[in-house]
Amino acid sequence: MNSYDLLVVGSANADLVVGVERRPGAGETVLGSDLVVHPGGKGANQAVAAARLGARTALLARVGDDGHGRLLRESMESAGVDTSGVLVGGAPTGVALITVDPSGDNSIVVSPGANGRLTPDDVRAARELFAAAPVVSTLLEIPLDTVAEVARSLADGARLVLNPSPPASLPDEVLAVCDPLIVNEHEAAVILGTEPGATPEEWAKALLELGPRSVVVTLGSEGALVADASGSARVPSVKVEAVDTTGAGDAFTAALAWRLGTGAPLADAAAYAARVGAAAVTKEGAQASYPTADEVAAL
Ligand code: ADP
Repeated sequence: MNSYDLLVVGSANADLVVGVERRPGAGETVLGSDLVVHPGGKGANQAVAAARLGARTALLARVGDDGHGRLLRESMESAGVDTSGVLVGGAPTGVALITVDPSGDNSIVVSPGANGRLTPDDVRAARELFAAAPVVSTLLEIPLDTVAEVARSLADGARLVLNPSPPASLPDEVLAVCDPLIVNEHEAAVILGTEPGATPEEWAKALLELGPRSVVVTLGSEGALVADASGSARVPSVKVEAVDTTGAGDAFTAALAWRLGTGAPLADAAAYAARVGAAAVTKEGAQASYPTADEVAAL
């Protein structure tokens, strides 16, 4: 009997957001708006998205022994995430320093901090979490050798979902166990090392040749494409008024991973995930925009 529906291994960041009239040049100081702090990081986002849908979700991550770490833990716990795998110390909590100009364009500096100190040893020490989850979802905002250890640590029959973001080329041993590898067009191009071809079907075919058992290409308002050895299928999204797409990909990935763990076929899991992603773009923010299962059903 699994104690969790989903284990997420990933990052947790405090997003520090200030509005500016214009960005400072070198050596210059400008005044900005009041600081707003949001919980973020792709791992924490996924864990909160899954828990809000009702999935029993655990997160393996590392934060600093500081106020941002405590804020992140509180926001995850209030969403229902099991944070017994959130380790503390080694470096300050990861932060994203974000300035937003009046046209809505962001400039972002990420300091990975404690996310960069989540080690293969931390993964090996979390054997009980791995044994308790049918699906593990991970991403690349943590060190690549830690991701490789995650790929080696799956329990018998457990499934790995990987969103390679920020994109980097992946070792074969990781690619071989992805089921699915979830990418957008930009990530597909980096993983393939070339422009991915004319159509999402061509990107998926080229990605499958790298070894993953299945591939999902997310296509924004167009939904997604799923592909495995048996062929490919388009999964439409729901038509919604998009307010803010931040974190939609994380909500999509978390929902898909959870549904796969309940035994749903890939295309059905992606169809559900597309509804979750669509719901997430109808509200401001990342974690603040994530829907409950009732809100998804009502969409
Ligand atoms: P990423 O942020 O990784 O690039 P996408 O922007 O493709 O991911 O969004 C993930 C999923 O969320 C999409 O596959 C789609 O199902 C849903 N989604 C995103 N943007 C919209 C939108 N404007 N309208 C409806 N659904 C959307």
